[in-house]
Amino acid sequence: MIIMAQSLTNNEIQISGLPSSVLRIALGTWAIGGWMWGGSDDNLAIKTIHDAVANGINLIDTAPVYGFGHSEEVVGKALASLTDKKPFIATKVGLSWDNGKVYRDSRPEIIRQGIEDSLRRLGVDTIALAQVHWPDNKTPIEDTAAELAKLRQEGKILSIGVSNYSADQMKVFQQAAPLATSQDPLNIFERATEKNTLPFVKENDMALLAYGPLCRGLLSGKITASSTFTGDDLRKTDPKFQAPRFEQYLKAVTELQALADSKGKSLLALAIRWVLDLGPTIALWGARKPEQVTNIRDALDWSLSADDYRKIDDILARNTPDPIEPTFMAPPERQA
Ligand code: NAP
Repeated sequence: MIIMAQSLTNNEIQISGLPSSVLRIALGTWAIGGWMWGGSDDNLAIKTIHDAVANGINLIDTAPVYGFGHSEEVVGKALASLTDKKPFIATKVGLSWDNGKVYRDSRPEIIRQGIEDSLRRLGVDTIALAQVHWPDNKTPIEDTAAELAKLRQEGKILSIGVSNYSADQMKVFQQAAPLATSQDPLNIFERATEKNTLPFVKENDMALLAYGPLCRGLLSGKITASSTFTGDDLRKTDPKFQAPRFEQYLKAVTELQALADSKGKSLLALAIRWVLDLGPTIALWGARKPEQVTNIRDALDWSLSADDYRKIDDILARNTPDPIEPTFMAPPERQA
């Protein structure tokens, strides 16, 4: 199924199916759900969302699984008390949980129920972008896609995306539903998406929502060798945050910081710009505190040069001899 070509500028992109273009930095709200991030404060989270919107963010990414409904509920509260123009909401389907154990489940009836639950938690009549969170290898891809196509015809969702799918899986999906976006890990340290799905996204005039653009805070520059993580924070087990890789990544961060300084930019802005200058991408900036969204616009209105990209490659080649992708996050298949 062919979809309309995306229009892309330095700062904005049109996602097929949405009535207007979006800023290429969107707010990621996984940490706002608390789960796997050592908790979050709801009042600060709501203010973060309001401040992000005041700063020009008009797309918010959430998911039912983020805090087992909590992130969507907080986003819903923030929307209800928002006096500015409401942002588009992107959420997900296709992950279920049982006693806190998450598994993939994209059976059509689960997709339909998931959308109804998300609409209720978010307090909206329509979801701008519904994305299948992870491929469920026990459900035919076409069945999941066909259910989403029906939900779109019914007006419950405007646009359809997938996340963590391969290019081959996306090809199958497209036979049954128009595919506007793919959401995949992409940052200076995690680059498999550049080869795996970005070419497909470009060929098919889609948009790529890049998750983890700050590499779970590593690319913020604030994480040091003495940083500690509490509660259920995923960085307690994230392989990048363990010896010997942690020290290697921190050395790379020091050099990336120097490169950013030489350009008069922050490391955050450099990391986000690296994602944005790769093509039709949107960086999902993960934030849960208002002070984290004050500097979003520093990543807009400029570009990295080919020489900057070469310098970044060189920093990685010298410091991270054994790079690793975020595959530790992949949830298991369902049992039945
Ligand atoms: P991220 O955006 O790469 O990084 C978030 C980290 O950056 C947090 O540690 C945060 O600090 C830090 N940070 C944010 N703004 C900052 C600022 N201005 N100054 C200093 N530090 C700052 O990570 P992410 O949350 O993993 O990914 C972003 C979004 O992508 C998620 O929220 C979610 O929407 C989406 N996602 C999707 C999938 C998927 O499977 N589809 C997987 C992962 C993520 P604190 O720790 O202090 O808050």
